[in-house]
Amino acid sequence: MAEKVRYTESEKGAPKVIPDGHMYTFEKKVAAGKSWRCDQRGECRGRITVDSKDQVVKTQEHSHAPDWGRCKAQECVVAMKRAAETSRASTSAIILSNVARVSLETAMKLPKTEFMKKTARMVKRLHLPPELTSLDDLGVPNKFKKTLKGKRKILLR
Ligand SMILES: [Zn+2]
Repeated sequence: MAEKVRYTESEKGAPKVIPDGHMYTFEKKVAAGKSWRCDQRGECRGRITVDSKDQVVKTQEHSHAPDWGRCKAQECVVAMKRAAETSRASTSAIILSNVARVSLETAMKLPKTEFMKKTARMVKRLHLPPELTSLDDLGVPNKFKKTLKGKRKILLR
């Protein structure tokens, strides 16, 4: 039996499916299940149909190569957002714990640290009680900042 597809979500929280190193957004329901379209719209006509058991039952070819780094980076951002929803750790610590062990392939596709921080802060504001929104003001230990910066330098250059 084929492997089940993995689900993640877009920046705006819409569902995405990752079966093969490509990411797809939901297109429509079809007789065999759901039709998902490649998120590289305009340049690609890639599509898949996924049945109710999360199995790919039909594929239409892409005009480009798969990119697992991009897919895993997206999963990483979503994991970071989930952590930010419930964790009271600092923004930097949350990001660090979610990006520390990714592969080089994934690290290269991650958003810039500043963008990750902005996203994590936004998620926190939405999910934490108001009296806790000043968590950022508590400050982050310097060793965390250094590690995060150093890591990016090592990975990206
Ligand atoms: Zn495509």
